[in-house]
Amino acid sequence: MPDPDTPLDFIRQIVADDLRSGKTGGRLHTRFPPEPNGYLHIGHAKAICLNFGLAQEFGGLCNLRFDDTNPTKEEMRYVESIKQDVRWLGFDWGERLYYASDYFEEMYQYALHLIKAGKAYVCSLTPEEIRQYRGTLTTPGKNSPYRERTVAENLDLFTRMRAGEFPDGAHVLRAKIDMAAANLNLRDPVLYRILHADHHRTGSRWCIYPMYDYAHPISDALEGITHSLCTLEFEDHRPLYDWLLDNLPVPYRPRQYEFARLNMTSTVLSKRKLIQLVQEGHVRGWDDPRMPTISGMRRRGYPPEAIRNFCDRIGVGKKDNIVELELLEHCVREFLNRAAPRVMAVLRPLKVVLTNYPEGQVEYLEAINNPEDPTMGTRLVPFSRVLYLEREDFMEEPPKKFYRLAPDREVRLRYAYFIKCVEVVKDREGNVVELHCTYDPETKGGYAPDGRQVKATLHWVSAAHALPAEVRLYERLLTKVNPAEEKNADFKSFINPHSLMVLNPCWVEPSLAGAAVGSRWQFERLGYFCVDPDSTDGALVFNRTVTLKDPWARIKRSQLNTKS
Ligand code: ATP
Ligand code: MG
Repeated sequence: MPDPDTPLDFIRQIVADDLRSGKTGGRLHTRFPPEPNGYLHIGHAKAICLNFGLAQEFGGLCNLRFDDTNPTKEEMRYVESIKQDVRWLGFDWGERLYYASDYFEEMYQYALHLIKAGKAYVCSLTPEEIRQYRGTLTTPGKNSPYRERTVAENLDLFTRMRAGEFPDGAHVLRAKIDMAAANLNLRDPVLYRILHADHHRTGSRWCIYPMYDYAHPISDALEGITHSLCTLEFEDHRPLYDWLLDNLPVPYRPRQYEFARLNMTSTVLSKRKLIQLVQEGHVRGWDDPRMPTISGMRRRGYPPEAIRNFCDRIGVGKKDNIVELELLEHCVREFLNRAAPRVMAVLRPLKVVLTNYPEGQVEYLEAINNPEDPTMGTRLVPFSRVLYLEREDFMEEPPKKFYRLAPDREVRLRYAYFIKCVEVVKDREGNVVELHCTYDPETKGGYAPDGRQVKATLHWVSAAHALPAEVRLYERLLTKVNPAEEKNADFKSFINPHSLMVLNPCWVEPSLAGAAVGSRWQFERLGYFCVDPDSTDGALVFNRTVTLKDPWARIKRSQLNTKS
């Protein structure tokens, strides 16, 4: 049962009331019904956390059901990716993996039932004519000339549709409801169409396929779903959902409830759009770390715990809104701050020679793995005469507020010593190629016994010990904060040409040798990074998950200010 102290969202309130009143026989049974026509995105994560989360909280069950009624767009590899993503998010459907295509025979029998009851007919208008006859929001529709076909004629035609006697588009089966209904979905909606296409599960067995609006309530009823949760755009379809269940001899009577879909800033959440990014090569694939897909976020380094926490925090409401991507990133940082071990890595190396450090000497200095969690312990990091520092941590002519390394200036190397820059070595074009520094052996551990202070602490690696790595940095994939607002523009005109920056060679400390693909690290001062599957034995590849700077607190504050 949910925590009694937190107020319930409207869905949880309905479920709690229904369980208390016994309306559903004391049962809660939900489902997550993806269509296998693409990879799941963060919007689906909201629906997954809601459906599976409800089942966990209220002691119910949740099915994973593939809504595979459109053979032309669906593929088995999408089925596999969806299963992997749901599991990775931390949810388990147990034995309850279903496919709408498993019910094609039942759906067909139910269609015969509607025909025999005079509630469905075969219509032979063209798709264009059907559209014209349907009318508009302000004008009623017109009855199809085929509406009064006899039951016998309809049965004959429909069985022959199934038998494959007609080409695509020749006929459809329609529910006989009301062409003057205010709700367009009730104006004799199409239930079945002819489609001579192989299905990824049923092969060539069928050449007629049910429409989503017909297949969904039947699938819910056959599975005994008590609360069928979907997004708000299906609110207008609910009367049809109810009409079908009221007019079919189904074994159970589910109810549909609608909640607001997730919209997120700087992001498009529509498989139709995401598939364009993939197919037109704007990204490297569905799991490109810039994609808002679950697989992209996994590759980028977002932990499943952070995504679940994000879904908890945004809650479930009945009004469409848009959530800041910064909130999701905040959840990622919050989790990784405690969970990710800290290491040192240099992304844009500048060679530094410590001229007074003995050649060939190596010291192993103790470094803290995570100050947020002492149980994570310490490790030893090698220190020697030649180091790499971050190029941007040095300026030959430092402006006023630049406290890092500069000629004749002393800084601290993290866990190591104070060093002082004594000479800047340049190439013929005047580029800085190397620094000569001295170190103060009295400052081991980073503190001077005489109490003198420095204003900066820099990260570093030992050149002879560091491992080469490629590091991929990411910016927003889209340049518009609210892409949906730009109704007249193609969202692809907002693609950020600088969304990926590859740095190579970078250098990481040797403790990262053998770091597992998918493992997450904080590179001190640089952000959180995750090992990419492109890594080889010779070179690790890292994706930057997020930087350390967290703009969320500022955004939240400014929102509070505008509200008050
Ligand atoms: P898209 O609009 O991205 O193509 P879809 O709704 O067509 O998504 P489905 O595979 O049909 O994708 O969705 C499976 C479930 O996930 C549905 O119940 C749907 O309501 C839900 N869902 C899809 N997008 C979102 C979203 N942005 N926020 C919350 N739930 C979503
Ligand atoms: Mg859909």
